Amino acid sequence: MPSNKTVICRYQHCQHETRELLRDEAVRDGRSYYHKDCFATREAMQKIVEFYVENFDKDPIFAQLKKICNELVFKKGYSPEYVLFTLQYAKKKSYNLHSPIGMYYLAKDYKIREAWEQHKLEAATSKIVDYEFDIQNSYEKVEGYNVSKNEGFGRVIK
Ligand SMILES: [Zn+2]
Repeated sequence: MPSNKTVICRYQHCQHETRELLRDEAVRDGRSYYHKDCFATREAMQKIVEFYVENFDKDPIFAQLKKICNELVFKKGYSPEYVLFTLQYAKKKSYNLHSPIGMYYLAKDYKIREAWEQHKLEAATSKIVDYEFDIQNSYEKVEGYNVSKNEGFGRVIK
């Protein structure tokens, strides 16, 4: 039987109207409860911090690092996935980040934004390809994408 007991979302940055939710709908971590999306955001934010520490600075000022992550996501509205992507990009390109402040510049970098758009497009395309082409609409989108990217097609025109 589902219980009607309510719990309080423990996420510091909970964006919900109320932090009270049904226990059955909450994610439990140890003694704490969270909204599902709050828990996912919390995990994603932790990944950003871990990636930064592993790849850029083993001994950062954690308060500063966390503050900047929070500002990027909760004030400036970047998704945690994008913020993590900017760090992965910086790592791949061997950028030096001397302080977490550099993350502001990464987030604004138009080249990284372009790479992110491309990344999302590729992720979406591979997802569609993985499933069967059961929706005509998606099929057409994938077709169009492949044709425009297909070098062989260009050669035929020439
Ligand atoms: Zn919450």
